[in-house]
Amino acid sequence: MRATVMYGAGDVRVEDRPDPKIVQTTDAVVRVTAACVCGSDLWPYGSMPATETGRAMGHEFLGVVEEAGADVTSLSAGDLVVAPFTYSDNTCDYCAEGLHISCRNGGRYGVDGVDGGQGEAVRVPHADGTLVKLPVAADSALIPSLLALSDVMTTGHHGAVTAGVGRGDTVLVVGDGAVGLCAVIAARRLGAERILLAGRHEARTDLGRHFGATDVVAERGEEGIARIRELTGKLDKVIEAVGTRPALDTALGAVRDGGTISRLGVPQYEQGPIGPAEFMRNITLTGGASPSRAYIEQLLPDVLDGAIAPGRVFDRTYALDRTPEAYRAMADRKVLKALIRP
Ligand SMILES: [Zn+2]
Repeated sequence: MRATVMYGAGDVRVEDRPDPKIVQTTDAVVRVTAACVCGSDLWPYGSMPATETGRAMGHEFLGVVEEAGADVTSLSAGDLVVAPFTYSDNTCDYCAEGLHISCRNGGRYGVDGVDGGQGEAVRVPHADGTLVKLPVAADSALIPSLLALSDVMTTGHHGAVTAGVGRGDTVLVVGDGAVGLCAVIAARRLGAERILLAGRHEARTDLGRHFGATDVVAERGEEGIARIRELTGKLDKVIEAVGTRPALDTALGAVRDGGTISRLGVPQYEQGPIGPAEFMRNITLTGGASPSRAYIEQLLPDVLDGAIAPGRVFDRTYALDRTPEAYRAMADRKVLKALIRP
């Protein structure tokens, strides 16, 4: 099969890889019909040391079950399924409490003999626990929004949930990337009345307004913080959807004492502000990697009936062999989120 492999910063190739086969009886092989490039893929794209062996890429995909292992009970060949961005058994103690990201038998795509999602096919471990069957045809117009459930939409939702967003709330979303925009959708869906979006890429903040943002803050740093404070007074809830230290600093500067910051962007810093100044402010820092599997079934009905359309974050589609161009375009911020069609 053809699949995407990253060999180092800026070096993404699409090449021939072994066709996936059932290894464990709980596996399924999924023929990928739609995949995408994640904002988090851009961190290694910018910094990964060169390697000889490369790393299979992609963790967001949707496709058709080609073969199911002997112990797979809920799926059969021909089913259209979406995969959350990590696999999980959906039966262990962590999964039972909805923290599938910490599944005792779970793992990530592209490592430990499991294929990446940016390819023609993927062996999915714990297929029953991982994959969610979709009641539409593979050529449905809803495919982009259903694909968004694998990561960006469920991650944005995780931010809104962990920030405690509810009816009538005012929320700040820091970051106009696909996750930030999906956090706007999620905050709106949970009843937030006022949603500030901090971002300066106009096409993206326009989409954010379409998704429900009521105010856009284009200013950065101290100026941005002052603007947010002026607009909100005491801001209770912040979703940080970038992962850089300046984005966290904006969140910390904007939030009220006693408020909550949910982090969704993979932190690109090792040390954070955890000293006496923050201690005195009683700020709750929450969020983290989304247990996306826990949210897919909750959000699926809203995608199916058109109440939310997170697929609008995909602004360009590439054939699989052109995935390297998709990385380049996203890294250059020319494309918000690239859809890959194997
Ligand atoms: Zn589990």
